[in-house]
Parts: sequence; structure tokens; C-alpha cells
Amino acid sequence: MTASTKTPLPLSEIVLAGPRGFCAGVDRAIDIVELALQVCPAPVYVRKEIVHNRHVVEALRAKGAHFVDELSEVPDQATVIFSAHGISPAVRQEAQRRGLQVIDATCPLVTKVHLEAVRYAREGYTIILIGHADHDEVVGTMGEAPGRMLLVARPDEVARLEVPDPDKVAYLTQTTLSVDDTREAIDALRARFPKIVGPAKDDICYATQNRQAAVKTVAAGVDVLLVIGAANSSNANRLVEVSKGMGTPSYLINDRLDIREEWLAGKRRVGVTAGASTPEFLVTEVVEALQAVGSVDVHEVHVVEEDVRFGLPRELEDMARSAGKILPPRAGTQ
Ligand code: SF4
Repeated sequence: MTASTKTPLPLSEIVLAGPRGFCAGVDRAIDIVELALQVCPAPVYVRKEIVHNRHVVEALRAKGAHFVDELSEVPDQATVIFSAHGISPAVRQEAQRRGLQVIDATCPLVTKVHLEAVRYAREGYTIILIGHADHDEVVGTMGEAPGRMLLVARPDEVARLEVPDPDKVAYLTQTTLSVDDTREAIDALRARFPKIVGPAKDDICYATQNRQAAVKTVAAGVDVLLVIGAANSSNANRLVEVSKGMGTPSYLINDRLDIREEWLAGKRRVGVTAGASTPEFLVTEVVEALQAVGSVDVHEVHVVEEDVRFGLPRELEDMARSAGKILPPRAGTQ
């Protein structure tokens, strides 16, 4: 949909979900790339999308970042940044062997899951990871305990699991899952393996939980919900599912250009939210595009305040120091 759309719609209210958009892990990962571009010798490479959003990737590419899929595309000795989703130890080892200058932008909440995997593997557990195959985070986490880790995406897959010792099983979860679906999967695991151990609750991160809580509140009061996020963004897809699960028609869009008028036909209240990798300017553009079709009130339903902020990796500060540079302050810091 473009701002020039002329078809009158009955739309009268936009409800923004809060919190929405960037989480602390995404904020940090983007800051890491921007700061590395300022203090490290060019070219600076980034392995995989730093976060799953092409607008973010394109903006960083325009500033000079070189995005690659694999380390084989990075010249020896060059600087490479690992994405927020984390990497398997095999990738880290290859980088070390090649003499690459590594900056790790893995979200600390993903690193926490890796450390849990390492600990359980060391203690002899078979680890069941609840998550989605092929997602970068899952590939990285599975790499921490090859041969000891099994993946399930849904509760009905639990019955098919074969483990060497049913009394020595642990579970972990991807950080960006549906809170409700994960609870069902954990219940199924507990029923099948009564002695299973795992984190106190699950590993779903605060940002995923908060955005799903906000969507539940908003979806209950709107006629249609738009989730701004990339097709390969796990947390954005989960927001669509959560909203659809409440019976609200819901659509995942990259940006305002993906909005279809037929989704809004006959609808008065539209909810808008954004996944954890989605920049706020895309929300602003969507709101402006919706406002362009009529007189629309905008208000926000905010379910929880977030004040999480992660520090920068030490290696970035070390690289700046050895280059005789000082890291510029991050936005939002005093
Ligand atoms: S969604 Fe959660 S785990 Fe992923 S980067 Fe953000 S805070 Fe970290």
C-alpha cells in the first residue's frame, strides 16, 4: 500500500503494541557492526545477516559492512563479526585457525543457552533442543554438543524421540519460540521423561515474551493485526501465530509496501507491532501509510517497560585500543 492510495476505508484506529521492535541483543549487534566500521581496518566482514532484517542489513552494507554466508568468503587475517544468532564452536575454531580477527555479536541470552548445552553434555545428558531446524540460532546451539543433541519443533514429535538413557535427559529451548507452544512441548517431554532436567522455566528471552504478551493484549481488541518483520525472523513469525491463535487475522509484512487493501476492507481497528529485529522507522512508515487513507487515531498499548541493555564484547574494545582509537559512545549512553 502506498501513501497515494485513494480508496476510502472505514479504518478509524491504529493500536500500537508495546514493547515492539528492537531488543537489547539486536541493538547491541547493530552497534557492534557500526562501531567496528569506525575502529577496525576495512574491510569489516559480517558472517550471516547480523539480525534477520534486510533493511538493517542494507543500511549496514551502505556504511561499508561486507556480508558473507561463510568464513570461506573472508580473507585470512581480516576482521569478521559473528551475528546475534550465535555460531557453533566449529565456526569459531575455523576462524581461529585462519587467523581472523573475530568480534562476537552473539546475544548474551543465546550464549547462555550455549553454556547450558555445554554443561549438560559434560554431565552426560542427552539434550533435547526445542526449536526450528535450519534457524541460525539452532544450528549454532546444536553445534555445542554434536551427537548428544536432538531437535524437536512440536509436542507431537516428542513421542518419536529415541534416547540412550531416558533417565539422563535435559532440555533447552530456542530463545524466540512461542511461549504457549513451548510450554506444551516441555509438558510432553516431562510426561515422556519424568526425570528430565532443564532451565528453571525455559530459555525464551525477555524480549520474545514481552512482545508476545503485548500482541495478545492488542490482538484481543483489534480487527486485524500487522506484524512488521522479515519472513526468516523467528520471533516475528511467532507474533503472527500468537495473534492468529486468538482468532485475529494477522499478516507478516516487511514494510508498508506489503500492506494489501483487502486485508483492511471493512476493518475499523488495526493493530501494529514489530519483531525484535525491526527498526522503528518501518513502524512509523506503516502508521503513516494507514493514516493516509483516512482519519485514524493512533494509540499505544504498553504492557511492560524494558530497560535491558547489554555491554559490548571485550574484543571490540581491545581492537579499538590496539588501533589507538577510542570507541565512540553508544546511542542512549551518557
Ligand atoms: S530476541 Fe532475545 S535472544 Fe534474540 S537477540 Fe533479542 S534479546 Fe537476544
